[in-house]
Amino acid sequence: TETLSSRDPELFGSMQQELGRQRSEIELIASENIVSAAVMEAQGSVLTNKYAEGYPGRRYYGGCQYVDIAENLARDRAKELFGCKYVNVQPNSGSQANQGVFTALLQPGDTILGMSLDAGGHLTHGAKPNQSGKWFNAIQYGVRMQDQRIDYDQIQELANEHKPKMIIAGGSAIPRQVDFAKFREIADSVGAILMVDMAHFAGLVAGGEHPSPFPYADVATTTTHKTLRGPRGGMILTNDVEIAKKVNSAIFPGIQGGPLMHVIAAKAVAFGEALRPEFKVYAKQVILNAQALGDQLMKGGLDIVTGGTDTHVLLVDLRPKGVNGKITEAALERAHITCNKNGIPFDPEPPMITSGVRLGTPAGTTRGFGEAEFRLIGDWIVEVVDGLAANGEEGNAEVEAAVRAKVKTLADKFPLYPNL
Ligand code: PLP
Repeated sequence: TETLSSRDPELFGSMQQELGRQRSEIELIASENIVSAAVMEAQGSVLTNKYAEGYPGRRYYGGCQYVDIAENLARDRAKELFGCKYVNVQPNSGSQANQGVFTALLQPGDTILGMSLDAGGHLTHGAKPNQSGKWFNAIQYGVRMQDQRIDYDQIQELANEHKPKMIIAGGSAIPRQVDFAKFREIADSVGAILMVDMAHFAGLVAGGEHPSPFPYADVATTTTHKTLRGPRGGMILTNDVEIAKKVNSAIFPGIQGGPLMHVIAAKAVAFGEALRPEFKVYAKQVILNAQALGDQLMKGGLDIVTGGTDTHVLLVDLRPKGVNGKITEAALERAHITCNKNGIPFDPEPPMITSGVRLGTPAGTTRGFGEAEFRLIGDWIVEVVDGLAANGEEGNAEVEAAVRAKVKTLADKFPLYPNL
């Protein structure tokens, strides 16, 4: 009966502070979202007590009959959402979903072809410091200089030259739709497996606002916590029974032990939410909001990589204002607008400085912001950045305080977790 606040006030205090931060700030980190109270209820449940190595109906532990129901719900809903035949909902994260696919389908030393981190790819797609870059012969593609779009000609050339066993599409900072048919064509031309990592845009696919990787991908991976708005975690989907079998063995016992049944239950809740008609409205609004925000930032004199977005994410090129990503992230944080510095394609600055920030609308849209609110937020970002442009790293304290006050008024209008 003892509550967390009385048993562990120190830890409880940090959680209250984090709740306060989420309530009072505008969250623009493109990979974050705000889960429902129902998702949190499932995740904070007795299912955390249960060991369930194996898969529903074939476990290595007794007493799994009820967690089997939860995992089957998660699986069935995921299959319905993405229109595919086989799914593994056990990966503990997006990185482990990718590692699971690699373990299933590749051998150390095999050649993979993925998007480079500095062009918008993810670490796990073959970046040097990641296991994927150490254990595989990782070749990396990028974007075209002239329009900052994925360079399909380069991918074809690299595929011809290196004959990769697997090609990976998708990434963490790609503002435009990926051409899955084109990737399939390139993969077929060299006999490569096509993996699509839809971590960022999975929620847009689920909501019918972004093309699906299927039927083009042999296998798709995703996180469950970004646009898809579930608990932190990963998932692997395929229509190929042989790949599905290999993936299951790769996740357990290949790279994981007991699955996090409380998280899988929370995934089931989130997938159920994503199947509802409201989620389609949400996904559409996420994109409209990103387009409105991008438009407002361009009106304020900033550049947007590729000139806009057709997803939830915007890459802002700060160079027209003569400021960098590091000081912009810090100044916006002082104004209670949270985002991350991010390299832009062909960035002259190093990764700890960068010339850009990455902005996303999934969390703000969940909170209830529409285009009008995102246009206001765009104006406030420009005000803060102009303060940096005029005064250097310290920015304009008065402007930042004024924006902080406007952020508070907006945040109070859209209360977060009112029942907590
Ligand atoms: N794949 C992509 C495209 C991502 O953007 C991310 C996370 O940022 C991941 C994989 C990894 O997910 P996680 O952080 O859950 O390991």
